[in-house]
Amino acid sequence: MTRVFSGVKPTGHLTLGNYLGAMRRWAAVDQHRSDALFCVVDLHALTVDHDPARVRRLSRQAASLLLAAGLDPELCTVFVQSHVDEHARLSYVLECVATDGEMRRMIQYKEKAARERVRGGSVRLSLLTYPVLMAADILAYGTDEVPVGEDQTQHVELARDLAVRFNQRYGHTFVVPRATSPAVAARVMNLQEPASKMGKSDDTGPGIVYLLDEPDVVRKKVMRAVTDSGRDVVYDPEERAGLANLLEILAACTDGEPAELAGGYDSYGALKKDTAEAVVEMLRPVRERHMELSADPGYVDGVLREGAEKARAMARPTVDDAYRAIGLLPPV
Ligand code: ATP
Ligand code: MG
Repeated sequence: MTRVFSGVKPTGHLTLGNYLGAMRRWAAVDQHRSDALFCVVDLHALTVDHDPARVRRLSRQAASLLLAAGLDPELCTVFVQSHVDEHARLSYVLECVATDGEMRRMIQYKEKAARERVRGGSVRLSLLTYPVLMAADILAYGTDEVPVGEDQTQHVELARDLAVRFNQRYGHTFVVPRATSPAVAARVMNLQEPASKMGKSDDTGPGIVYLLDEPDVVRKKVMRAVTDSGRDVVYDPEERAGLANLLEILAACTDGEPAELAGGYDSYGALKKDTAEAVVEMLRPVRERHMELSADPGYVDGVLREGAEKARAMARPTVDDAYRAIGLLPPV
């Protein structure tokens, strides 16, 4: 059976981008057709300036939102990365296969490091090595497919490269994974800055739709989305990024096709209104289920406990193999 692995970082409140680019497919498709693991990758949240209590809170909230979005612990494994030691154990070994040049070429490293510097902070070493830990997350489970938004494809490519290199040098150990992304809304853009990806750790609140935003807040954010001074509604991601973003969001929410949808509108206002309502309706059940789950933290804890046990048992043999293959003496 196809093995699928993916995750979200508890660096902020989950967004419409996370949902459309990743989580929605995990629940609707991946968990039903594969042997899938979904992870709150909390170690990755420590790569940038962070508040310990907030990371803990957001980890719990992310786990609850994964379940609220429809992940079913009977069908897939839901767990927290730091509960399974194998991720960090494998990461070190993969650091011995990766190069520093490779790390410095990663687009997200360049962007996030620049942002940390603008904020006057220093860049944590873990921000540079983050893609190696992500490769470990993926490779530890013999993953075939990694369903992610488009922004993560470079990191999955790196995981592929490291798997191939390790296998060539030390003997076949890892399955070589590949990224999969949705056909529409693989890269949801910030509503206020349509040239930038909507990211949960960005500062521009009004441009980001959070999964837990109240319906009226969602409406306001969508109605105020930056478009352009044109009048006609056409789908042109290069020249009319803000408009194209709204059409993609509407298409993703209604199972439509952006260019086709564009033909049905002759004003931005009507498009925005329909997009806002479509988003509100799509998020409604997720919010409601999250509220129910918040009232039952024991249930979420139980899912995470069981998930970590299952994940540990799956990762252990592969990580042990990697340790042996690279030359480490097995415990005597
Ligand atoms: P951060 O700003 O901390 O990097 P993020 O919003 O990018 O947060 P991640 O935890 O890095 O979220 O990514 C979780 C998943 O959501 C990944 O599969 C990623 O590709 C996807 N994703 C993130 N942002 C978007 C987006 N704007 N559009 C589509 N998919 C996205
Ligand atoms: Mg990200």
